[in-house]
Amino acid sequence: MSRIDRVLAPNPGPMTLDGTNTWVLRGGEPGPGQETGTRRSVVVDPGPLIDGHLNAVRALAGEVALVLLTHRHADHSEGAAAFAASVGCRVRAADPAHAAVGDLLQDGEHIEVDGLELQVLCTPGHTSDSVSLLLLDDGDLLTGDTVLGRGTSVVAHPDGQLGPYLKSLQRLRELAARGVVTRLLPGHGPVLDDALAVLDGYLEHRYDRLEQVRGALSAGARTPREVVEAVYAEVDRSVWPAAELSVAAQVEHIRAGG
Ligand SMILES: [Zn+2]
Repeated sequence: MSRIDRVLAPNPGPMTLDGTNTWVLRGGEPGPGQETGTRRSVVVDPGPLIDGHLNAVRALAGEVALVLLTHRHADHSEGAAAFAASVGCRVRAADPAHAAVGDLLQDGEHIEVDGLELQVLCTPGHTSDSVSLLLLDDGDLLTGDTVLGRGTSVVAHPDGQLGPYLKSLQRLRELAARGVVTRLLPGHGPVLDDALAVLDGYLEHRYDRLEQVRGALSAGARTPREVVEAVYAEVDRSVWPAAELSVAAQVEHIRAGG
């Protein structure tokens, strides 16, 4: 079994829930006769550029082989370059703004570090560069903001798009239905033990919302704001700006014939 530790960043808010989860991963315990205590770690999403947080990650991570980013949003990526420089490793990401050309993550790619085996799954939708990372030995999936530990995620239009997001959720759902993915380790909020149930819920929620947005448009709503007022009335107003982005993505999806 891989060893998985979480360091919670002190950046709570309506969009970040309790704060950003920084994940520190290591390969499982070595077998008899193998060397112990030399396993380097992989740090996923160093999080915001807050010294106290990055110090806490560094203390837990020991020797770091690699920093990985699930996507470009600052609450995950802002501290990445400084953190990687301080521990002397590279940053790998799907966004060229955060990784050198040779360090861009590819869909399906395997990454192995001292007994830790990860597979990269490109899961665009929340943003165009969103990836999920599968721990091959136990079926844990690091989802970034593609799936959150509570509530639902945002399709951050125009970078994020609904068509790719639905395809990404369906892809992850199929992996969960086959038992390849078991638990979800999100970028915000708690670990989710039943990946299949959560992904089913996410898909259902997205299709329900799409119907509601269609309904609001036929009832005369013209702007994303008017749709939000009609469809997200029960949702806390602090997340309405984010809801407007998701609605813009849904309106575009509907107008494109989705
Ligand atoms: Zn995000």
